[in-house]
Amino acid sequence: MPRGKNTNVYLICKECKMQNYKTRINKKTTAKLEHKKYCAKCNKSTLHASGSEIKHSS
Ligand SMILES: [Zn+2]
Repeated sequence: MPRGKNTNVYLICKECKMQNYKTRINKKTTAKLEHKKYCAKCNKSTLHASGSEIKHSS
């Protein structure tokens, strides 16, 4: 088990606001994440920023 609290968040395309990817961040150490990733809707690589938390609904 990894130590610390990692939060599942979406990576959101900054251009079309699509939630294209999921990733895990430690909110204590990582306030904001930005990655250049491919967006299918934009049909190109765009900046994706970490966005809303993914809630586990089970
Ligand atoms: Zn996009």
